[in-house]
Amino acid sequence: MKITGNMLLGQSEQLGQYGEIFAINPATGEQLPPAFGSGNQQQVTAACALAEDAFQSYRSTSAEQRAAFLEQIAVNILDLGDDLVERAMAETGLPRARIEGERGRTMGQLRLFAGVVRAGQGLDPRIDPAMPERQPLPRSDLRQRHVPLGPVAVFGASNFPLAFSVAGGDTASALAAGAPVVVKAHSAHPGTSELVGRAIQLAVKQCDLHQGVFSLLYGSGRMIGTGLVSDPRIKAVGFTGSQAGGTALMKIAFERPEPIPVYAEMSSANPMFLLPATLAANPTALAAGFCGSLQMGAGQFCTNPGLIVAVDGAPLQQFIDECTGLLSQSPSQTMLTPGIQQAYVSGAERLGQSTGVEQLAKGLCSDAPNQCQATLFATSAEAFIADKRLTEEVFGSCSLVIRCQDEAQMLKVAKHLEGQLTASIHCNDNENEDLVRNLISVLELKAGRVLFNGYPTGVEVCHAMVHGGPYPATSDSRSTSVGAAAIQRFMRPVCYQDVPEKYLPAEIDSANSRGLTRLVDGVLSNA
Ligand code: NAP
Repeated sequence: MKITGNMLLGQSEQLGQYGEIFAINPATGEQLPPAFGSGNQQQVTAACALAEDAFQSYRSTSAEQRAAFLEQIAVNILDLGDDLVERAMAETGLPRARIEGERGRTMGQLRLFAGVVRAGQGLDPRIDPAMPERQPLPRSDLRQRHVPLGPVAVFGASNFPLAFSVAGGDTASALAAGAPVVVKAHSAHPGTSELVGRAIQLAVKQCDLHQGVFSLLYGSGRMIGTGLVSDPRIKAVGFTGSQAGGTALMKIAFERPEPIPVYAEMSSANPMFLLPATLAANPTALAAGFCGSLQMGAGQFCTNPGLIVAVDGAPLQQFIDECTGLLSQSPSQTMLTPGIQQAYVSGAERLGQSTGVEQLAKGLCSDAPNQCQATLFATSAEAFIADKRLTEEVFGSCSLVIRCQDEAQMLKVAKHLEGQLTASIHCNDNENEDLVRNLISVLELKAGRVLFNGYPTGVEVCHAMVHGGPYPATSDSRSTSVGAAAIQRFMRPVCYQDVPEKYLPAEIDSANSRGLTRLVDGVLSNA
């Protein structure tokens, strides 16, 4: 399929006239044609007006229509074939296997949400029947379901050009909720964005939906992004990226005459706690597992393990020696964009120059552009606790080992942490159970996902997943951006009091015509 550089406004297309964006192949530094025309406020307004026009009819579609639409998008993405895979590889420097795997995950997410819509998940239907005879006051008939918030603005992520971009988790969950979507494409992969955008645009037509259900804009975050989040027709925002970008959008959203929620997934250091008996039993395997996780995708994952916490001593030294051996022999890898590579280099330099921090290992260097050399640092628990900047994420294959004097200090480090997407505990049956229980009790308040004897990279897309956590991991710790529960971000509850039967939505009618499991008088019921 030909890539044109045009923005997609419903079923029409337009070349933006306010500057040009070119994708860059990070592996070669080459600029890739064509030029993508940046939009301005006029296109933002047009896309939001279309989305608003589409909202009533789209939210009224049946579960089957909406599910079929999500499935059609998945089919259309696969139909893009190698054009999509090759363009994504060229724009990101990521290998074919990763892009193909991510395409599968993207299609899987869309199908998961189709199932969620068919099953009525996210609607949370509740019925408290009227109690006319109740004394001293009768009770009204009260019924609750969730409705979509309205049009959603989505910011594509640089590090998941398919699975968290134009048709990624934010878009899939918003469309599943019944919300039209306006995507601000990430400027690092505009061609990939256009191809996927066209797959969605085609699905809108094939499924005979209002054209305003989906639009795609190009341009800078400061112009297009700010305009989008400020538009009164936008009712929620999904974002994955930097803390600076996420907090800037939160500020805009909260300062609007009508503030709206921003679901921003931003930064996380993903601490791994290596408990003493476990570390002593197997430092070599732990080092190999950690180094694999650290270097996966040049460390450009929000779940990259950026902190290792362990008691100092011979087992930790052996773990460090194994890591040093592995990392110092590891080839450098291409990062996604020149900006991300520069941020990595300066972040690692800042960490290395911090008081009390020593560099343990650095990967092999290369003359190729935009390279990430894996780096491992170490510090003491006291130095870590004394300097807040040591808790900050360095996006890429960079990690900091925190040497603790004893188990109590490991717990102290855990308590000092800010919000995280994940926290891992490596623990066998010989560990101090009190320590383990105390760690869980601290970490479950710090992280969205607590995992045992595993590595944080690799986020399963399923019903129980939480990819979230307290700030700065995300802007709203009550939600997840990955998995079925992500739909809840774009819906809100409405209570229907004494509404005549013929006006009740099907989800909460007395006949249970959708056949849902509902909370009736406080008890789950299929009746
Ligand atoms: P980013 O700079 O935050 O950009 C993400 C999106 O937000 C882009 O579309 C960008 O537009 C827009 N944006 C950024 N700042 C904005 C602002 N002030 N107002 C409105 N829109 C704004 O993230 P990135 O380019 O993907 O990567 C940069 C850094 O983000 C990385 O080095 C890393 O530290 C972090 N990051 C973290 C994660 C994670 O999951 N934790 C993932 C990716 C990146 P433009 O087109 O103008 O850039």
